[in-house]
Amino acid sequence: MTQKTLRICEKGHRYYKSSDCNTCPKCEKDNKPTEDFLARLSSPARNALVHEGITTIEQLAQYTEKEVLKLHGIGRASLPIMRTALEEKGLSFRS
Ligand SMILES: [Zn+2]
Repeated sequence: MTQKTLRICEKGHRYYKSSDCNTCPKCEKDNKPTEDFLARLSSPARNALVHEGITTIEQLAQYTEKEVLKLHGIGRASLPIMRTALEEKGLSFRS
């Protein structure tokens, strides 16, 4: 198990990451207006993903369906939307 550590980016956003990647999810989101899969979701589902640090479809692909469903705010109705968004990029949930 990798421990998630608190990082603070140069713009002052606080976020937790367990990887060596230093990319701030908030800045990443600001820089990628084309990542529209979040816009398709209901706002509780979207908030749940953003809260978890998932702001790109590539990040979503690192989760299993089970893990995503465990997030507070994600309902079963969100799954087909996310699955479709992943497939459009040639990705899928981790199995
Ligand atoms: Zn930032």
